[in-house]
Amino acid sequence: MKDIKNVSIIGAGFTGKQIAAITALNEYDVSIFDINSEMLQEAKKYINGVLKRKKKPELINNISYHDEIHAAVKDADLVIEAVPENLELKKLIFSQIDKFAPKKTIIATNSSSFPVSKIEDAVNRKDKVLNIHFYPPIPLRPMADIMQGTKTSNETFENGKKWIESIGCHPIVLKKEILGFVFNRMWHAARREALKLWAEGHADVETVDKSWKIFTRMAMGPFALMDAIGLDVVYAVQMSYYNESGELRDKPPDALKDMVDIGDLGMKSGKGFYTWGKKK
Ligand code: NAD
Repeated sequence: MKDIKNVSIIGAGFTGKQIAAITALNEYDVSIFDINSEMLQEAKKYINGVLKRKKKPELINNISYHDEIHAAVKDADLVIEAVPENLELKKLIFSQIDKFAPKKTIIATNSSSFPVSKIEDAVNRKDKVLNIHFYPPIPLRPMADIMQGTKTSNETFENGKKWIESIGCHPIVLKKEILGFVFNRMWHAARREALKLWAEGHADVETVDKSWKIFTRMAMGPFALMDAIGLDVVYAVQMSYYNESGELRDKPPDALKDMVDIGDLGMKSGKGFYTWGKKK
C-alpha cells in the first residue's frame, strides 16, 4: 500500500506478534515495542520462524525490536496497539504514540471490546484513529474489523481498509459503532450462553463443545476457544459488555472470575476449562 510503508506494533504478546508477522511477510518494515524483554524475545523467535517457514528469511532484516516506544514509532505510518485490554492503559499508549509518531501516522487499536471513540480523547489527531481488530490465529482467520472514531477521516478509513487488504486479510467494515464489532458480537452471545450452561450446572464443558462442533463442523467448541484466547481476556471482554449494557445476563459468572484469580488462564497457563499439559 503506497501511503503505508512502516508499521509499528505496540505490545508483542499473543496477537501483537501475529500482526507483526503477517505485516512483515507482506514486505512492510515493522518495528515492535514491548515493556517486557522476554515477550520481545519470544515474538522475535515466532516471527523469524514464520518468515523462514514461508521461505522469506530475507524479510527478517526489515524488523526491529525496541524497549522504548519513541524508537518504535518515530518513523511509523501506521501504529497498531495490542497491549492488554485495559482502557486507561490504552489511552496512555495512544497519548505516547501521539507524542512521538509523525503527524501523518494513523493510530489503530486491536482492542477486542473498546471502540476507539473511547480512546480518541487521548490524542490530538482524532481524524487518524481506527479500530483494526484481528481474529487470531490470523493465517486461519484472515479478517479484521475496521471501525471509525467520532472524527476519523474518510482518508484514514480508506487507508486502513487498503492496508488490511494488502496483508491478505478481509476488511470487515462497520458502518456504525457498536461494542464487539461484527463477528465478536455474535461470538459474545454464544460465549455468554455457553458460560451460563456451565456455571449454572445445566451441561458440562465437554458436552457444550461437542454439540457446537457437531452443528458448526468447527474443530473447537466455545470452551476450548476461550482457553485459546485466554480466560483473563475473556473475562475482561465479557465485563465490558456487562458494563455497557448493565444487564445481569451479560455479567460473567463468578466461577470464571475464580479461575482467573487462581491463574487458570487457559492454554497460556496450561490449565483452563481443559488441561493443556503445560506447567503454570
Ligand atoms: P497479551 O497479554 O498476550 O499481550 C500483551 C502484551 O502487551 C504483552 O507482551 C505485554 O508485555 C505488553 N504490554 C503490557 N503493557 C505494555 C505497555 N505499557 N507497553 C508496551 N507493551 C505492553 O495480550 P493479547 O491477547 O495479545 O491481547 C492484546 C490486545 O489484543 C487486547 O486489547 C485484546 O483485547 C486484543 N485481542 C486479543 C485477542 C486474543 O485472542 N487474545 C484477539 C483479538 C484482539
